[in-house]
Amino acid sequence: MKKIRVSIEGDGRVTIKLKKTRPVVETGGAGRVLAAAGGDLLLSSSLINQMEIRVESVFRPGQGDVEIAYALSGSTYPDMLHKFSSNEVVAHATQDRIITTAEKMAEHILRERPDAPNIIVGVHTHPDGAAELSGQDKSSMPRIAAKLKERIAGANVVFAVHAVSRESPRARAQPAKVAVNRIKWSSITRTHEVAFFNEKAEPVGVSV
Ligand SMILES: [Zn+2]
Repeated sequence: MKKIRVSIEGDGRVTIKLKKTRPVVETGGAGRVLAAAGGDLLLSSSLINQMEIRVESVFRPGQGDVEIAYALSGSTYPDMLHKFSSNEVVAHATQDRIITTAEKMAEHILRERPDAPNIIVGVHTHPDGAAELSGQDKSSMPRIAAKLKERIAGANVVFAVHAVSRESPRARAQPAKVAVNRIKWSSITRTHEVAFFNEKAEPVGVSV
């Protein structure tokens, strides 16, 4: 008999899922279909809260804003945030650096998770910038996706740009979907906007 896991998210949503008995590893090129609501990536409020903390915690008074990278992973939807050390920044790097980073990302994710994930979201920040892919982002994504799929077979690889504003006092605004592939919210000091894409730079739907 299969075991069922029931969990209640911070926002009161109840999730029921079959418990896996062993990590699922699939060979063959095509990733699995995203098994979330209407095919969207479903982000819980607790995960969004972790994204906010991850990004805001790197800023230091009087110092320039730095780009950082982190990842989300999950089986049916993202349920874990992986914070990489600051010297493993993906964005706008050389090709060698991107390959190394993708390999480290995969290693790190597999070490932190109890199972092999079906979904991996590679995120990097654009401090004081737009939640849009740069030319370099676009050109690096297919290589990063290929490297990640080489290490974690069958995974759906998604990319996200996390734009964060400069610091100034503001009212907190709850996460909301502002476009098919975009969510936006504000902490009391910064506005956050995150946009999701596949490796071909096409929008990936997201829900909160
Ligand atoms: Zn970028």
